[in-house]
Amino acid sequence: MSAEQFSKLSLGEEMVTTRAAAARAARTQPRSSSSPGKDHPLQSIELPASSSPTPSLVISTNNLHYNVSTFDSDLRRRVKKGLEDNEMKMKYCTLSPTQPTDGIKHFHIDDDISVAIGGQMVRPKCNCGANEEGLACKHIYWLADQILSTAPEYLDEKPLQFSPDGSTIQSTTPVDILNNKGLESVADDLKWVLQKEDVPKTQDEMTDEMTDMLSVFEPQEALPGEFKSPESPLTSERSRKYQEFARLLSDYAIRDPGVFLQIRDVIDPGFQRRVFFQKIESRISRTFHALDDYIAHGPMNESLDALRLDDPMNESLDALRLDVPKCATRLRALVDAIDDFCMQQNKDEPDARSVAVRAAAALITVLDRVVDRNVNSYEDITWGLEAPSDPRDNNLFVALIGSPSDGDSLFVIDTLQSLPQEDVLRNHWEILQSIEKRLADSETPVSYEDAFRRFVHDSRKRAASETREGEPKRTMQE
Ligand SMILES: [Zn+2]
Repeated sequence: MSAEQFSKLSLGEEMVTTRAAAARAARTQPRSSSSPGKDHPLQSIELPASSSPTPSLVISTNNLHYNVSTFDSDLRRRVKKGLEDNEMKMKYCTLSPTQPTDGIKHFHIDDDISVAIGGQMVRPKCNCGANEEGLACKHIYWLADQILSTAPEYLDEKPLQFSPDGSTIQSTTPVDILNNKGLESVADDLKWVLQKEDVPKTQDEMTDEMTDMLSVFEPQEALPGEFKSPESPLTSERSRKYQEFARLLSDYAIRDPGVFLQIRDVIDPGFQRRVFFQKIESRISRTFHALDDYIAHGPMNESLDALRLDDPMNESLDALRLDVPKCATRLRALVDAIDDFCMQQNKDEPDARSVAVRAAAALITVLDRVVDRNVNSYEDITWGLEAPSDPRDNNLFVALIGSPSDGDSLFVIDTLQSLPQEDVLRNHWEILQSIEKRLADSETPVSYEDAFRRFVHDSRKRAASETREGEPKRTMQE
């Protein structure tokens, strides 16, 4: 913040006098369970000094009393501005983002002010420009008062006394309180947002992350990646409004990462994962259903169908009918969506393994149902039109597995192989065996059958030896 900005800020706050006094009077009760719980004599908040610009006793908005009689008028003014009713708001706090081990804590306050304390620092440091020559600014006094208010054990002595640099209050220091209680617990008491992981740095990264998160509420059940795609003419008004809303929130979040952190606390990664798999599971069954509808009733109005299939994943219209090639395209897109989602997961997260199990369940369901459809789907149709005779166009198994061309990935197996295999096998062993048997009975391309067998049996051996080597077994099912 420039000196000019700072002087404007100070000017604004000096105007708050009567309203501030009124607000303070309303706050004679201890503000929370963390306050000392002692009686505060009424007389102490009616001191005439409170109307002076440089009183010797300052009562903070936390109702803590500070004796600043040894301070000169400039420092007294700073204490008063920091502690009495003001507009200061914590955006978020964090350990050093670059060096979390240096013990320095950063407090980001509105108006791009940030205060750093702890670690090897002798005294708090603020970037506002007023914190020079070892003297604290109003932000540092404010921060010290806030932190102290969470530690009732230090509040017996009244009134309290600051050191001029704001590093100590009476017999304690804000840093000691932070170290003893932990930053997380202090932030929790004060309802401050604590940043534990990186937040997106650029506007684009922020918009991406926000749209991923907000896709859980997307009215047409779009998956995270689809929610980001440019609007198609078929995007409903609700979805369009939703995209505008997401962009608006992203703008706020890039200006204040605290907003992003709060939204992520609500739409936490576990919730995002559950919603993702609910959508995937529902799409899998709708896709097979749409093929069944096609087989039973034939195509719908062709122009509508063409429109709808511009985007292979667009599910905006109900009563979808899909012929074999279109159904195959959708299933491939679903497998890719699962693959992308798994790739984006942080492998160190506690429920990374349950994600793998759930992804495997979806993938194996798809494979199981495709292997079951190694037939000419149109054999018994009653709806006229001549059905295609090429098995790639009438047999879902052939379309996806039985007619490989160079460069094709191995349907489902390629993604299954990227998951933690011990978990996949332990949870899906029986169905994998059943699929293996059906593949052997079908005219499965050798390369596919071999890959499947290697996946099931080699990884089983490997998983067994890993388990023997002492990895504790955990329950993976959600
Ligand atoms: Zn400052």
